[in-house]
Amino acid sequence: MKIAVLPGDGIGPEIVAQATKVLEALRSDGLKIEMEHAYIGGAGYDAAGDPLPEATLKLAQESDAVLLGAVGGYQYDNLPRPMRPEQGLLRIRKGLGLFANLRPALLYPELASASTLKPEVVSGLDIMILRELTGDIYFGQPRGIRTLENGERQGFDTMHYSESEIRRVAHVGFQIAMKRGKKLCSVDKANVLDTSMFWREIVTEVAKEYPQVELSHMYVDNAAMQLVRAPKQFDVILTGNIFGDILSDEASMLTGSIGMLPSASLDINNKGMYEPSHGSAPDIAGKDIANPLATILSAAMMLRYTFNDEANATRIENAVKRALAQGYRTGDIYTEGTKKIGCNAMGDAVVAAL
Ligand code: ATP
Ligand code: MG
Repeated sequence: MKIAVLPGDGIGPEIVAQATKVLEALRSDGLKIEMEHAYIGGAGYDAAGDPLPEATLKLAQESDAVLLGAVGGYQYDNLPRPMRPEQGLLRIRKGLGLFANLRPALLYPELASASTLKPEVVSGLDIMILRELTGDIYFGQPRGIRTLENGERQGFDTMHYSESEIRRVAHVGFQIAMKRGKKLCSVDKANVLDTSMFWREIVTEVAKEYPQVELSHMYVDNAAMQLVRAPKQFDVILTGNIFGDILSDEASMLTGSIGMLPSASLDINNKGMYEPSHGSAPDIAGKDIANPLATILSAAMMLRYTFNDEANATRIENAVKRALAQGYRTGDIYTEGTKKIGCNAMGDAVVAAL
């Protein structure tokens, strides 16, 4: 199994180094993997004048999975749009055909006090948000800013979803629900949007192939409220690109720190790209204080979803739990009475706990 390792910018190199350290430890214990590094984002622009150098895309396409840090930094803010680091990310997602973005929101009992919600509301929280990545208002044409007949200017976008786009992500959602609590809540705005009415129709149709999974539907405004009112009612949430973007950020706060949240983006064959949910955090880059656990947990998701290696995935997750139980904390999750350590030391603590 080959993994393309793309550290990227900001804290990317520091946090990815901790995840590869954990993977190396498993490799010396028999896990058959091979890792190769390449540049992406600002690092790609610096090295090759392109946020997604050709060699990087080629490596990613030849590999079974991609482990990514994060992209972006202040020094790239004034580049023309095609040269910006974020374009590298959008292009690699497209180049790999990634359409299903999985973001778990799981509360580690040790971090209950870091949540914004009361312990009884979040204790035991374990939900999976599945966000469609290729359709919706983000990519619909036409879009732009135009001048109307009356001379007023108007901004506009187009929202659409094709049947095949909805179908393939719905299948992923039901398959994940089968491996979890067998409940799937599809989130839309079918009372207002035709795109959503269609979404609901197709998801309901796909559900017939998964009779063991209990399907429900919820409007996105209600879902946003329910996520903070009673988040444990959810198991898998399936939703489109823009609603998923917003709801997954909201859900991330239930679990304490963005530094704890992994993510996976899958293609039709479960080949995937794995990265923390947070960004490149340029404000803390190079200081050895970033939390590497989201990236380490992303490596665990890689083993589970692409390599079908549930045993080693669980092994990593248990090692993270053990390191937390031993009291180790990076600054973002530190509370009184725990042991504050740096990024590198946290990587070591997880390896030791393996
Ligand atoms: P992006 O647009 O790439 O998602 P962003 O603007 O949302 O980036 P982040 O880079 O995610 O921002 O950072 C948001 C805040 O969270 C910053 O203050 C950053 O320092 C903090 N942060 C992000 N990731 C981590 C981490 N792994 N450990 C500690 N703090 C983090
Ligand atoms: Mg962000």
